[in-house]
Amino acid sequence: MKVMKFGGTSIGTPDLFLKVAKIISNRSEEEFTIVILSAIGGITDKLLGAIDLAANGDKKYTLILEEIKLIHYEFLSNVVAENNQQLIQDQINTLLLELENKLKGIFLLRECSSRISDSIVTFGEYLSNSVMVGTLRSLGKKCEFHDAKRLIRTNSNYGDAEVNFAETNHLLQKWFALLNKNHIPIVNGFTGSDENGHVTTLGRSGSDFTATIIGGSLNASLVEIWTDVDGVLSADPKVVPSAITLDQLSYNEASSLAVLGGKVIHPKTIAPAEKQNVPVSILNTFNPKAKGTFISFNTIVSDVHIKTITYLKGLSSISLFESESKYGQKILVRLFGLLARLEIPVVTISKSAYNQSISFIVHSEYEHVFLEEINREFTLEIENGFLGKISSKSNLALITAIGIGSSSYSLVVRRIHDVLENNRIKSLMFLDDPHSLNFSFIVDALEINKTIVVLHEEFFGDYIYSKEVNKIVSVA
Ligand code: ADP
Ligand code: ASP
Ligand code: MG
Repeated sequence: MKVMKFGGTSIGTPDLFLKVAKIISNRSEEEFTIVILSAIGGITDKLLGAIDLAANGDKKYTLILEEIKLIHYEFLSNVVAENNQQLIQDQINTLLLELENKLKGIFLLRECSSRISDSIVTFGEYLSNSVMVGTLRSLGKKCEFHDAKRLIRTNSNYGDAEVNFAETNHLLQKWFALLNKNHIPIVNGFTGSDENGHVTTLGRSGSDFTATIIGGSLNASLVEIWTDVDGVLSADPKVVPSAITLDQLSYNEASSLAVLGGKVIHPKTIAPAEKQNVPVSILNTFNPKAKGTFISFNTIVSDVHIKTITYLKGLSSISLFESESKYGQKILVRLFGLLARLEIPVVTISKSAYNQSISFIVHSEYEHVFLEEINREFTLEIENGFLGKISSKSNLALITAIGIGSSSYSLVVRRIHDVLENNRIKSLMFLDDPHSLNFSFIVDALEINKTIVVLHEEFFGDYIYSKEVNKIVSVA
C-alpha cells in the first residue's frame, strides 16, 4: 500500500487537476493507493483573507467568496464529466452555503476565534476533494472521500495543532481494516479534529504531514509527495534556477531541510515516516517521468561535499550584555523561564564562554514581546548596571548548508567562510552542527539571494545533472 499526496501547486488549473487525476488513475493500478489532496493552489490564502475582511466588518469578503465559488465551478465544468456533475455540484453548493453562513456570522460578530478560523480554512480541502472524486469517477475509477477529521486526532492548538499519535494510529488502523479496497480512498490533507470533535489544522502546508501520518501509521511501502519541482534541489529553484535535483537524502538531511526553511517539505513531515522506516519520494506533477528524490535511512556521501543550501527568513536577534559576569547563570535561568512562560520558540542561541553576552534568534513576530518582557523582568539589574546593553535587530535570515560529509566538515566550513569573506557578506553568528552535519549562519535578509547564489556556485558550479546517467556529474 502506498500514499500519494498532491499539493496546491499540482492542482492549480483545471488542466493540471485532470493531469493529477490521470496520474492517480494510472499509478493506483500498480498498488493499493491512498490519495491525500490539498486545496486548489491559492484557495487557503483566499479563505484566510475572507475571514480577515469579515472580522473587520468589511463586506468585500463576499467578493472573495464569489471568486472561490467561480473557481470551483470552473474546475467542475472542465474536469468532471456531465453525468457526474450534478452530484458534485450539489456537494460543492452545500459546502459553499455553509462557508457563506460561517463568514456571515463572523461579519456580524466582527470577530473570529482560532477555532472557527480552522473550521473555515479547511473548506479549501473539502471542495478540492469533492471535485477530485467527481474527476476520478469520470475517468471510470471507483473512489470514495474519507474525512481526515475522523482519522487524525489532535490537541486544540488551532492553526498548528499537535497530533495525538496514539489515538490517531488507533483510528487509522481501525479505518484501514474496514476500508473497501476496491475503491481509491481520497483523504483531505491539513485537517484533523480535537477530542471535542472541533476541526483543527496541522499548520500551513500541513498536507505533507497528513501523508506521512497516514503512511507511517499504516506502514506504507512509500509516501509520494507530488509537487511542482523534480524533487529536492541543491537550492530553492526560485533563487538558483540552475539548482540540481538530488537523487537521495537521508531522513536526517530531509528533516533539517524542512525545519530550516526548505518549503518543499512541511517541517513535521519526516518524523512519522522515519519512525516506521517508510521511505518518502518527492516527485514532479509537471514531469511525472522524473525519478524524483528518494528519502530513507540511507545517504550517499556527495562529491560536492554538501547536499543543499536553504534559508529561513523573518528572524530577529535579541542580545544582552552583562557587565557583571557573576550573575550569569541566574540571568540565564530567568531568561529561559521567560521564554517558556511566553511560549517563544527559539531558533538558535549564541553565548560567549565567559557568560558575558548572549544572543537569541527568534521569529520576528516575537521580537517586541520578548524585548518588552526582558526589560520588565530585569528592571532592577538594568538600573543597577549589572545588565548592559539590550539590543535587537530584525530582518535577519538563517542560511544552512545541509548534508556535509563528516570527513570534509572542517574543509567545507572553511570554504563557506572564504566565500563569505570574498563576497563581503557579513554574518552575525555562525552555528556549527557537526553532529547533524549542517552548518548555519545568520545574515541580513537583503543578502539571502546573493549568499545562496555564491555558495551554490562554489559547491555546485562544476556540477550538472546528467539525464543519461540520471545523476549529478562533474563537468570539470
Ligand atoms: P505544494 O503546493 O506542492 O505543497 P510547495 O510550494 O509547498 O508545493 O513546495 C514546492 C516549492 O518549494 C517549490 O516550488 C520550490 O520553490 C520550493 N523549494 C524551496 N526549497 C527547495 C528545495 N531545496 N528543493 C526544491 N524545492 C524547493
Ligand atoms: N491548503 C493548506 C495550505 O495552503 C495545506 C496544504 O496546502 O498543504 O496551507
Ligand atoms: Mg507544500
